[in-house]
Amino acid sequence: MQLANLIDGRLQPPRAGRYLERRNPATGQVAWQVPDSQAADVGAAVEAARRAFPAWSGRSQQERAEALQRVARSIETRLEAFAAAESANQGKPLSLARRIDIPRAVANFRYFAAAIQHSHERAFSGPGLLNYTLRRPVGVAGLIVPWNLPLYLLTWKIAPALAAGNTAVCKPSELTPLTATMLAEVFDEAGLPSGVCNIVHGTGAGAGQALCEHPDVPLISFTGGTSTGAHIQHTTAPLFKKLSLELGGKNANIVFADADLEACLETSVRSSFINQGEVCLCGSRIFVQQPLYDAFVAGLKARAEAFVVGDPAEAETQMGALISAAHLEKVLGYVALARDEGGEVVCGGQRLELPGRLAGGYFMRPCIVTGLAPDCRVQQEEIFGPVVTITPFEAEETALAMANGTRYGLSASLWTRDLSRAHRVASQLDVGTVWVNTWLARDLRVPFGGMKASGLGREGGEDSLDFYTEQVNVCIKL
Ligand code: NAD
Repeated sequence: MQLANLIDGRLQPPRAGRYLERRNPATGQVAWQVPDSQAADVGAAVEAARRAFPAWSGRSQQERAEALQRVARSIETRLEAFAAAESANQGKPLSLARRIDIPRAVANFRYFAAAIQHSHERAFSGPGLLNYTLRRPVGVAGLIVPWNLPLYLLTWKIAPALAAGNTAVCKPSELTPLTATMLAEVFDEAGLPSGVCNIVHGTGAGAGQALCEHPDVPLISFTGGTSTGAHIQHTTAPLFKKLSLELGGKNANIVFADADLEACLETSVRSSFINQGEVCLCGSRIFVQQPLYDAFVAGLKARAEAFVVGDPAEAETQMGALISAAHLEKVLGYVALARDEGGEVVCGGQRLELPGRLAGGYFMRPCIVTGLAPDCRVQQEEIFGPVVTITPFEAEETALAMANGTRYGLSASLWTRDLSRAHRVASQLDVGTVWVNTWLARDLRVPFGGMKASGLGREGGEDSLDFYTEQVNVCIKL
């Protein structure tokens, strides 16, 4: 299937006529031709977004909200088609796309449609002076996303950007272009004016770089890897662009000896292996307090071995295929490195050969490694696959030091029944989000983002409306 860009309300081929081959992760077969767009395509999309900006930003909040509500409804009526496309394109279980990815995309549009109607400006008064702060849209927003939660993360940016009155040029991952392309039909049905939201496919070096460098794109919201984020920061700094970076993670899952072991294990198997471990928030470093360590390792091993890896389309499948052959090789390389670094592979970690049409797919068994030092590479570098390490500890301070002892700072989870300890430890973790006795619970009003090498800035709720607007203070002498 040959895909196209969405520019100015029309599906268009890349100007240079070049395409990238994309394979279906579950079969390894070439399935899609993805536009290999270049600066000229990006330029046309930016120009369309620039032309659409005055009318779109001039609409009332209510009118924009109504358009976003129609977009949400239109995705919802196509939920099955979107879920099937997301699963085929990314390799994730269809059931997961149906339960999480697509409903979350719908929720993103609904949430920001409501939020923009309840947003308000701030005012400050004092003797003889009145100050108020106006928020106004920034202009054309450049939105760049990775492959692991393709539509969910893209709509997390499109919805607030458009709600606040910006127009947008989106650059989905070249590995997962399918559901973004399906938005063309959705926008058309929802009556979104041409040029308000454009989609340009291509590589990071081609289309992504051109978007970051474009002088008429004053804002970039990027989700992806830390080294790409650093490069984008370098590119955009001299251009003084507004920039949000949601980057990699190496998240700690800290289990204290008083934890509810059953509940913790049920959640930990998901926080380790859901979406093939390809979620930035996965708890890839598990620290377990003695004397719970042996019971935890045995419990997680049993659950990992029972985790159903297989055809993403099958209802019982819990883990599908990794995104690409190169990524599978990288993840298996970390399993080999874990052995070299003195770790014991407790289960999994090998490629899984499935029969029939899945014979060329990128499957592997979920992997648990123990016995590694906290500062070794496997415990420090982001693997972004179904591999977790488990390390024992005795004292709370040791757990905190190990949890904070990485360059990343995205999220952490704590398992304890001790309320004081939960508050105390949460306040000392250098991460953007701490979950206590749960994982991945999200309230769209809550600011989301990372510390250290996990990112810059916060998006979510009011923070998104701040990020996607410029603020102007007006001071009046009374
Ligand atoms: P990546 O950085 O390779 O690519 C992300 C996007 O950036 C893609 O669309 C890519 O084409 C584009 N890109 C690459 N080079 C670019 C450049 N020079 N200029 C502009 N755009 C460029 O990341 P990936 O492999 O697609 O995704 C995995 C990473 O994303 C992991 O590190 C994961 O932790 C991270 N991630 C973070 C979050 C978060 O919220 N913090 C969420 C999901 C994924």
